[in-house]
Amino acid sequence: GATIGILGGGQLGRMLAQSARRMGYRVHTLAPGADTPTGQIADEVVDAPFTDLDAIDRFARGVDVVTFEFENIPFEATRVAAAHAPVRPDGEVLYTTQHRLREKRALAAAGLPTAPFQAVETSAELDHAVETIGRPAILKTAGFGYDGKGQVRIEAQTDLEQAWAEIGNQPAILEGRVDFAAEVSVVAARGVDGSLADFGVIENRHVNHILDLSIADMPLEPAQTAAAREMAAAVMDALDVVGVLCVEMFLTRDGSLLVNELAPRPHNSGHLSIEACPSSQFDQQLRAVCGLPLGSTARRVPTAMANLLGDGWARGTPDWMAALRDPGVNLHLYGKAEPRPGRKMGHLTAVGRDRADAECRALAARAALTDR
Ligand code: ATP
Ligand code: MG
Ligand code: MG
Repeated sequence: GATIGILGGGQLGRMLAQSARRMGYRVHTLAPGADTPTGQIADEVVDAPFTDLDAIDRFARGVDVVTFEFENIPFEATRVAAAHAPVRPDGEVLYTTQHRLREKRALAAAGLPTAPFQAVETSAELDHAVETIGRPAILKTAGFGYDGKGQVRIEAQTDLEQAWAEIGNQPAILEGRVDFAAEVSVVAARGVDGSLADFGVIENRHVNHILDLSIADMPLEPAQTAAAREMAAAVMDALDVVGVLCVEMFLTRDGSLLVNELAPRPHNSGHLSIEACPSSQFDQQLRAVCGLPLGSTARRVPTAMANLLGDGWARGTPDWMAALRDPGVNLHLYGKAEPRPGRKMGHLTAVGRDRADAECRALAARAALTDR
């Protein structure tokens, strides 16, 4: 059988590996660390940093296709890997999406709307950008941000010198703050032949900038749903993505959609597809990168997903029994040893009669974990 190579060792690689092994593939992973969520499921593990190009070279020689589960893989690593095996999505997609400015410019070039933004590389440029864009705004590092890390809110009173110091003097982007009614995402897959499939519009609620709850099938006007899905399709085609990509969007109070950011891989909001759809986002990623036909993303049942952060472990091991008393609830744990606050340890997925019921069951199951 064929072997897929995953760059990255987190939970996204773990769930991809689970799909891959179910379909008879072998899985190799390369990431720093001997005991990673992906490595626990893989057939072979290379413990090396992504900057170790010799290790990347050897790794790529041993696999039939390379994909990634983490967007901060250096472009150079994908170039080295591509000498031996197809890298899907290719390194260009990674290069564009791992840098907020390049990403926003690519979105603009594809004709997709975003919040107003401006590049900021010095404290003087920050002053100027804040004058142009106005307050409130958000200053974000151009690279390496996740779960809201590397972001500073610029409020009416915020001192700009201090904000710039907090970001740490690195290339950044200033974005106008969107007064959104909701956040949504479209997770889409695109095959080697350009075929597309998406999981519809997912509603996302964040707490402290970290995704907290996702619910399938955001009830929008049909034209809005179509627009969101078309935006995702436009991104997939514009970036020539082979694999899975998530488009995070804001639904503004006047009902229009703005793209927030892209993730060139399965996304936390798409985890509910494991229970909700015949082919999950990980099945689709596998199918796409292996050149197989895409599977069905039809939603079988109303579904919601609640994240489990390390905070929930503060008073001891969560009460798994209590959460699983609802037969419509599934537990996913990522095999991370240290439950730190804010760290994604796993998630719960609940199916229900309708969206509200699924949401309610996911929240009740999570509350039951720590209700003792
Ligand atoms: P992720 O974990 O999704 O990769 P991230 O650290 O890359 O997160 P963003 O998605 O850019 O960061 O921002 C995190 C959250 O902060 C968003 O989901 C949204 O709630 C809020 N946010 C970010 N940018 C804006 C904006 N321009 N206007 C309003 N809210 C924003
Ligand atoms: Mg992000
Ligand atoms: Mg985000």
